[in-house]
Amino acid sequence: MAEMVETALPDSKCPVCGYHFDACTSMPDNNDPRPKPGDLSLCINCASVLYFDANMSHVVYEHPERLDRQTRAVLARGQEAIRRTQEAIRKAKAALT
Ligand SMILES: [Zn+2]
Repeated sequence: MAEMVETALPDSKCPVCGYHFDACTSMPDNNDPRPKPGDLSLCINCASVLYFDANMSHVVYEHPERLDRQTRAVLARGQEAIRRTQEAIRKAKAALT
């Protein structure tokens, strides 16, 4: 299994929630961890399925249901991890107030 690799990106925003990106992290089972145009991505804030355009900006991937079963499974695992993390952050912030 390949390690997760963080790559700096040109400034970009999630087209769904507006979250600001300046880097991305590969999935742990990605054997080609450096992102390139056309690669899929997930927003770390809202878990939307996105892809990189030619300028490495994020664009909504309109039909993730059309992806192959294995890719959908990888995306679903990533979305679940993002949602669990966001929920833990919400609970931690609520505990502090
Ligand atoms: Zn987002």
